[in-house]
Amino acid sequence: MEAGVYLHIPFCRSRCSYCDFATDVYRDSDTVEQYVDVICTEISLFSKSLIIDTVYFGGGTPSLLSPEQVGRILAAVRSKFDIVPNAEVTMEMNPATVTPESLAKYRSLGINRASFGVQTFDDRALKLLARGHDAADARNTYAMLRDAGFNNVSFDLIAGLPGQTFAQWRRNLDEAIALSPEHISLYLLEIHQGTPLAEQVRSGRQPKPDDELAAEMYELMLDRLALAGYEQYEISNFSRPGFESRHNSKYWTLDPVFGFGVSAHSFDGMQRFANERDSATYVELIRESGSAEVMREDTNLESEFMFLGLRLEAGIDLDRFSIRFGYDLIDRYATEINGMIENGLVEMTLGRLRLTRKGKLFSNEVFAAFV
Ligand code: SF4
Repeated sequence: MEAGVYLHIPFCRSRCSYCDFATDVYRDSDTVEQYVDVICTEISLFSKSLIIDTVYFGGGTPSLLSPEQVGRILAAVRSKFDIVPNAEVTMEMNPATVTPESLAKYRSLGINRASFGVQTFDDRALKLLARGHDAADARNTYAMLRDAGFNNVSFDLIAGLPGQTFAQWRRNLDEAIALSPEHISLYLLEIHQGTPLAEQVRSGRQPKPDDELAAEMYELMLDRLALAGYEQYEISNFSRPGFESRHNSKYWTLDPVFGFGVSAHSFDGMQRFANERDSATYVELIRESGSAEVMREDTNLESEFMFLGLRLEAGIDLDRFSIRFGYDLIDRYATEINGMIENGLVEMTLGRLRLTRKGKLFSNEVFAAFV
């Protein structure tokens, strides 16, 4: 099984009102240049020699890096890892952060998949989220991606925004479908403490997100995307056949992924480990000791295998589970599973345990039974 490499690029043009990711506002090119040097150092010090079939630039807004900087990071990855010829190489890109020239150069460097941060086509909502782009930017940048030859594009869409109506969400979906990306990822808005949006909701300036409405939006998405020929392969991810995200699938099937950069997380098949979350401290740590690791823990593989397997449309392969862990899942959790089958939350088909449509809506309840 090949591994994946994740590269965290922690710079954004401005900070979105709901964001609690490890990201900094892009202030000066020296800081970015220094960061690129340091992430290359971290990669060059990696101790294993591995074959990888996915590389993923996430952030932050990786498309704020110049093609030269992206090229340097990819060269560091290539010098350390064996990348298979048909590897999936993804870059997260935000609207209005690229040009036809930069896109052509990213393509020539081997970036063959764009994860595109559309979020919504509703300008009012984009303002609320302080995304720093409008719907016209999203449409223009998407056209540029296609012109540059990107034939594997994923849209990030966000639902459950304060004040967002069902009709607005439907219009959003219709527009996304009309543009026909190969892949769509859905995020249900979470309000994180300490973010400007949390303060706006707390003070009553924005309504609280409505969970029931968010569930209806999710159901509409299931119906609309199925009709348009998208397959749901994970609870929040949909694609045209053959365009599932190979990189993200590694997280759900517990394949190893090694992360580099500030706050990057890794999984080596047994343990999870993570880097320092503060960019300046990350840079210092790598310079001083070559490592910015601040957390390492053994994983409860069985629990994760179940929890993550249930997120997948294919569900958990019960034979594979018993071979890997030496016991029968259905026997061990007979009471819980029978209860969930009776409640219509899970079903067993062809040796697999999977969520039903209702189970997808109440997935947290199902997952909690196995933790
Ligand atoms: S673009 Fe993404 S990472 Fe950057 S501030 Fe907005 S939500 Fe956060």
